[in-house]
Amino acid sequence: MGTETSIDNYDNDRAASTSWLCEQVERLQRANRDLQIALETTALHGDVIEAQLQEVNQQLQAEILQRQQKEAILQSILEIVSRQKADLEVILQTTVEHSDTIEAQLYVLNQQLQHEVGERKQSETALQSLLKILSKEKDDLEAIMRTIIEHGDAVETHWFNKALEANLLATVDGLTQIANRRKFDEYCNRQWQQMLGDRTPLALVMCDVDFFKDYNDAFGHLAGDDCLRQVALSIDRVLNRPMDMVARFGGEEFVVVLPQTSAAGAMKVAELIQTEIANARIIHPRSLVSDYVTLSIGIVSVVPTENRSPKDLIDEADQALYIAKQQGRNRIIYLSMT
Ligand code: GH3
Ligand code: MG
Ligand code: MG
Repeated sequence: MGTETSIDNYDNDRAASTSWLCEQVERLQRANRDLQIALETTALHGDVIEAQLQEVNQQLQAEILQRQQKEAILQSILEIVSRQKADLEVILQTTVEHSDTIEAQLYVLNQQLQHEVGERKQSETALQSLLKILSKEKDDLEAIMRTIIEHGDAVETHWFNKALEANLLATVDGLTQIANRRKFDEYCNRQWQQMLGDRTPLALVMCDVDFFKDYNDAFGHLAGDDCLRQVALSIDRVLNRPMDMVARFGGEEFVVVLPQTSAAGAMKVAELIQTEIANARIIHPRSLVSDYVTLSIGIVSVVPTENRSPKDLIDEADQALYIAKQQGRNRIIYLSMT
C-alpha cells in the first residue's frame, strides 16, 4: 500500500511539473511573440525616429548658431558701453576738478544777470513814464486836432480873409483906395510886354497937384488927405476902358496907365481929368494959378521896343510933368519919346 501511494505522489508531482513547464513554455512563446511584434514595430518606426532626431538636431544647431551671433553682438555692445563708461568717468573727473571754477563763473554770471535785471527794471520804469507823457501829448494833440477840425471852416475863412486883406494891402493905397505904386509897377511892366508883342502904343499920364504944400498949410493935413481922395476919385471917374488904371505914384502925384493909347488919346484923357478936377471945385486959397485945386500933367505915349524899358516911359512922363510945372502949372505937356 505504501508503495502505491509513493508512485501516485510521484505521478502527481510529475504531472504537476509537466503542466507548469507547459505553462512556462506557453508564457515564453507569448513573450517571444510580443517581442517579435515589438521588434517589428520598432523596426517600422526606426526611420521616422531617425528623421525626427535629425530634424531636432538641425534645429538645435541653428539655435546654437543664433546664440553665438547674439553673444557676439552682446560682446560688442558690452565693449561700447565699457568705453562710454570710461569716457564718462573721465568727464566726471574733469567736471569735479573744474566744478569750483564753474561755480565761480556761475556766481559772476548770476551777479551780472541780476545787475542787468535791475537795469532793465529801471529802463522799464523810465519807459513807462515816457509812455505816459507821450500818451498825454497824443491826447492833447488829438484834442487840438479835433478843435482844428471843428473850427476848420472858421479858421479857413479867417485866414482867407487875412490873405485877401494882405493882398489888398500889398496892392491898394491905404489913403485913396486906388492902386498903389507897387501895383502900378507890376501893371505897367505887364502892359509894356503886352504892347511890345502887339506893337501898339502904351501911354502914361502923370498928374501932380499944384501948390499942394500950400493947401496943407492952409487947411491942415487931414483936409489935405481929403483933397487927395477927391483927386483920386475924379481921375478914376474919367477912365472908362477896363484896361485903363489909375495909381497913386507917391505923395500928391498920380499916374494913369493907358494901354493901346496914342499920344492924342492920352491927351484927351488928360484934358478930361483936368475938366473933372475943375468941376470938383476944390477951393485952394493959396494957389497962384486958380481959386481951385489944379493939376499939372505930363504925357508920354510910345510903341514899346526891345531897346527900351518901362522905366524909360516913366522917366519921360516925369520929364513932361516937370516941364508943365516949369511952364506955369495947370497944364498938359506931351513929350514924344525919341
Ligand atoms: P508944386 O506945385 O511944385 O507941385 O508944389 P507942391 O507944394 O505941390 O509940391 P511939393 O513937392 O513942394 O509939396 C508936396 C506936398 O504934398 C508936401 C507934402 O506935405 C504933401 N503931401 C504928400 N503926401 C501927402 C499926403 O498923403 N497927405 C497930405 N495931406 N499931404 C501930402
Ligand atoms: Mg509932387
Ligand atoms: Mg505938387
